[in-house]
Amino acid sequence: MAEAILSLSSISRSFGEFKAVDNVTIEIETGSITGLIGPNGAGKSTLFNVVAGELSPTTGSIKLFGNDVTGLHPDQRFELGLGRTFQIPRPFKRMSVLENVMLAPTGQTGETLWGAVFARGRIGDQEQRIRRKALEVLEFLTLRHLADQPAGKISGGQMKLLELARVLMGDPKVILLDEPAAGVNPVLTETLIEKIEELNRGGKTFLIIEHDMDFVMRHCDPVVAMAEGRVVFQGTSSEAQSNPLLLDAYLGA
Ligand code: ADP
Ligand code: MG
Repeated sequence: MAEAILSLSSISRSFGEFKAVDNVTIEIETGSITGLIGPNGAGKSTLFNVVAGELSPTTGSIKLFGNDVTGLHPDQRFELGLGRTFQIPRPFKRMSVLENVMLAPTGQTGETLWGAVFARGRIGDQEQRIRRKALEVLEFLTLRHLADQPAGKISGGQMKLLELARVLMGDPKVILLDEPAAGVNPVLTETLIEKIEELNRGGKTFLIIEHDMDFVMRHCDPVVAMAEGRVVFQGTSSEAQSNPLLLDAYLGA
């Protein structure tokens, strides 16, 4: 097995008495596109929140590039190269698509548009650099033509791509995507897949929560399945496709 870029060891997270995530151990291989599947309420998004640092685990630890990041703030994990999208996109709806991307934190510590706005002196330089980068990212994700549209006016699928655009501003090495294809039309889903695969060939590792089994089976390998907070399957995509439990649960067989 390739080296793990992200290691989750015995992660649990409770809400009161309820264990939303229960003793999850997963190693994410460097360079993989790992799929995370499971029914609603399985604990997938909660696990993402623990990995990204929005929630602390009740027990367990997280290593990124071999270093323990369990106690770090989400921003610190982001600066180390961990990017994530949310299941429900949250753009600033009245700002333009371009502004939304420009406002995303960049990989360089402290280089944000807010910083540029408040800095004295070389405001123009920094803002221009961020604008250029934002336009490149929008071009890459086929959103360039929407740059000046209010973000609240674009389609749900385009909002998902916008979320990814914001994440890419930070040059992450590991990207967590929470249901990127949910509610996205087939054409945009194809675009999304193409871009994920292109970024992956460029060296980025993905962990993707997705309900669309066709998406997962064709584009994710390995596959991890959760149910009721626990990992119930981990294996290659072809093992997943011949696993009776998963066939029953997801493929309607
Ligand atoms: P999934 O993403 O797999 O659909 P979630 O991680 O969103 O599942 O939720 C797992 C379970 O944890 C659900 O039963 C959900 O209601 C519960 N849960 C999630 N977040 C909270 C919270 N902040 N407080 C209480 N319960 C929560
Ligand atoms: Mg979820």
